[in-house]
Amino acid sequence: MKYWVKKELKPPHGKVYIIEDRCKGCGFCIEFCPQQVLQESEEFNSRGYHPPKLVENDKKCIGCSFCSLVCPEFAIYIEKEEENED
Ligand code: SF4
Ligand code: SF4
Repeated sequence: MKYWVKKELKPPHGKVYIIEDRCKGCGFCIEFCPQQVLQESEEFNSRGYHPPKLVENDKKCIGCSFCSLVCPEFAIYIEKEEENED
């Protein structure tokens, strides 16, 4: 007799990289992140804009890459960490 085995799935996780000097401070990545992982930093980049920074608990990033899709300056990208693989 076969039984269904309930496999515990962890949410995916992403590591966020920000190329600060490319940022033009539009705020799209902050606005559209479904996990509210990003916020505006107080620092200025070399272009005079405030690039985004991670909020304290960056473990909430699910690696959806939406921030990098909406960034017009290609200033943010994600490295996905595959936690569901055994
Ligand atoms: S990958 Fe998704 S969850 Fe992570 S910072 Fe970007 S938009 Fe937010
Ligand atoms: S979407 Fe890109 S250019 Fe706009 S604030 Fe975010 S990193 Fe900067």
